[in-house]
Amino acid sequence: MNKGVLFVLSGPSGVGKGTVKAKLFEEFEKCLVFSVSATTRKPREGEVDGREYFFIDRDSFERKIREDAFLEHAEFAGNLYGTPREAVNAQLLAGRDVLLEIEVQGALQVMQSMPDCVSLFILPPSFEVLEQRLRGRGTESDEVIERRLEQARRELPMADRYMYQLVNDTISGTYEKLREIYLKHSKVVHQVYGI
Ligand code: ADP
Ligand code: 5GP
Repeated sequence: MNKGVLFVLSGPSGVGKGTVKAKLFEEFEKCLVFSVSATTRKPREGEVDGREYFFIDRDSFERKIREDAFLEHAEFAGNLYGTPREAVNAQLLAGRDVLLEIEVQGALQVMQSMPDCVSLFILPPSFEVLEQRLRGRGTESDEVIERRLEQARRELPMADRYMYQLVNDTISGTYEKLREIYLKHSKVVHQVYGI
């Protein structure tokens, strides 16, 4: 059996990662899994512990860093985020593709330690559109939005460190490109779906 492939998806907060990623998981649920990260951020309304994230406190997070339990970890807008190493390896060995949706610092760590990964960066059509989407989502306070926009200005120039750059104009157009890249690199999807 082929091993799974690791996909790394980044892009500024509000660009549409969650939207297109959800469609990919829906279409390829039998062979593509999401890696649930740990974070010290507080859950948003509707988020469930163990589904979107494992919500843990800073002490527990730091203990896990010392135990080398993370494939990568980084601080983003005042909170810590990390990818559990064992869970990812187990899925890849079991022949499932894994998608990490992580910020740039963590993604660069993964590109170094797992050079076979496929990396994608999603860009907004413009900075103004990004701001509109982030505000329109209505999940963060003005202060948090400002921090995330500031972070976005630092992240956007890093897009060319990734294998692929996708501008998220329309959801359907971006999804088509993401799907094509997934089908091109996955070694298991063709066996599982016969396509
Ligand atoms: P991220 O996961 O990157 O933070 P989301 O997927 O939550 O971003 O998208 C942020 C907001 O923008 C959501 O309200 C979403 O519905 C909207 N959105 C995403 N993609 C598009 C698009 N191509 N055109 C218009 N709105 C979009
Ligand atoms: P949010 O708080 O909006 O869920 O996520 C904020 C940022 O953290 C996003 O860019 C998201 O991709 C990133 N992120 C989520 N999980 C991880 C992780 O495990 N590691 C890293 N480095 N970034 C993560």
